[in-house]
Amino acid sequence: MKYDVIIIGAGPGGIFAAYEFQKKCPSLSVGVFETGTTLAKRRCPIDGEKVKNCIHCRTCAIMSGFGGAGAFSDGKYNITNDFGGTLYEYIGREKALSLMQYVDGINLAHGGEGTRLFSTAGSEFKKICMQNRLTLLDAQVRHLGTDINYVVLENLYDELKDYADFHFETPVRKLEKTEDGFRAVTDEGTYESRYCVVSVGRSGSKWMEKVCADLKIPTSSNRVDLGVRVELPAAIFSHLTDRLYESKIVYRTKKFEDNVRTFCMNPNGIVVNENTNGIVTVNGHSFEDPAKKTDNTNFALLVSKHFSLPFKDSNGYGESIARLSNMLGGGVIVQRFGDLERGRRSNAKRIEESTVRPTLAATPGDLSLVLPKRILDGIIEMIYALDRIAPGTANDDTLLYGVEVKFYNMEVQLDSNLETNYPGLFIIGDGSGVTHSLSHASASGVYVADRIAEREM
Ligand SMILES: Cc1cc2nc3c(=O)[nH]c(=O)nc-3n(C[C@H](O)[C@H](O)[C@H](O)COP(=O)(O)OP(=O)(O)OC[C@H]3O[C@@H](n4cnc5c(N)ncnc54)[C@H](O)[C@@H]3O)c2cc1C
Repeated sequence: MKYDVIIIGAGPGGIFAAYEFQKKCPSLSVGVFETGTTLAKRRCPIDGEKVKNCIHCRTCAIMSGFGGAGAFSDGKYNITNDFGGTLYEYIGREKALSLMQYVDGINLAHGGEGTRLFSTAGSEFKKICMQNRLTLLDAQVRHLGTDINYVVLENLYDELKDYADFHFETPVRKLEKTEDGFRAVTDEGTYESRYCVVSVGRSGSKWMEKVCADLKIPTSSNRVDLGVRVELPAAIFSHLTDRLYESKIVYRTKKFEDNVRTFCMNPNGIVVNENTNGIVTVNGHSFEDPAKKTDNTNFALLVSKHFSLPFKDSNGYGESIARLSNMLGGGVIVQRFGDLERGRRSNAKRIEESTVRPTLAATPGDLSLVLPKRILDGIIEMIYALDRIAPGTANDDTLLYGVEVKFYNMEVQLDSNLETNYPGLFIIGDGSGVTHSLSHASASGVYVADRIAEREM
């Protein structure tokens, strides 16, 4: 079977590419191949009662399916070049921002209207942060919330399903170069196309590595972020979250001059498991629906680890540390900050007696047995720094879940069109290593579809 364009992966990158083809070049035939299921069929079996921990499904419903890794996320679209990816390095700062705003408009038109747009501009917190060795990064944040994010995806799918051929539960096993295009090999058969847009995200990172090795597309990889997810009473951070929702704060440690940063803040949210290639790590999200809000806020504290030659496998390093926590705790470990400071593990009794009610059933344990000292020292320093702008952060009962790992896909060598050394083969979204967020991944999909549409005019 032949298409004009094959899109591999139906996460935000793939969806927004398909959306843009429909708008700018509806005559192009588009086939979308996705390992996971339709949005409606996506269901993680962990219910907190019968199934408490990850049972390693063949395809992870959290990471795969229509909507990609973002489907059950908090739906925080950060409109900024300061974090979330380096798309601006390829396409320019103004273009990147304008595409993120364009994506925001599409989300609003598909069910997101009425949701709040937060901004750090003119905020008094910048000064307070500076006075405490902390830096507040600039951003606008559209918070759709998990529930509205889902509605937006439903509406986008309704609009796209009659235009593009969606092949769900159809992983592309192999991508080959043909004389005049590309061939996607699946269990159901092979499909050819003139253009190919690959948007396989984090869950497709191993597959992407193989494709690049087979097709001899140059790549580089040297970064992984490691840390914990902090959970505390929402009141402690409410002065920040009410105004900014998500505050991206960076702390420079005194001891090692490492940067520790907050990541993915979820006011009144929940902590969740995340499964990447069979390894269980921690993440978080929150709901827009008041009925689903909890009394806690959670956010990650992460330290970036950059490696130099001869070591090249930064993700392998992160995976080994996550495996260690899985080995000790059977999954994610939770520890009270007070227990960590006293050099003792948390146990079920101490967690039970804690004033902070955990929103994830994790195994009480000792994170100092898992995280490297330098990283843990940096996290502890930052908790005390945050305590100065949000008193109560360093309370004994503050919960730390570990480990949170932010894997970075290797960076694929791409030109300013996000095109590989094979004309017509584009790599976008988190799978390219260029983006690490919903807004950047979505913007990269629009950008590439526009480049292809221009060639077809
Ligand atoms: C729990 C959670 C919460 C998050 N919250 C936020 C947030 O609030 N804000 C934010 O900006 N970011 C958030 N993120 C990150 C965000 O979801 C990603 O940055 C974004 O989804 C990347 O989009 P993508 O299209 O590049 O990849 P993905 O969303 O990962 O989609 C890739 C798709 O490709 C499919 N695929 C992989 N390999 C193949 C193959 N060989 N054949 C066919 N299909 C394949 C996968 O099944 C997947 O559906 C969160 C992530 C998680 C896991």
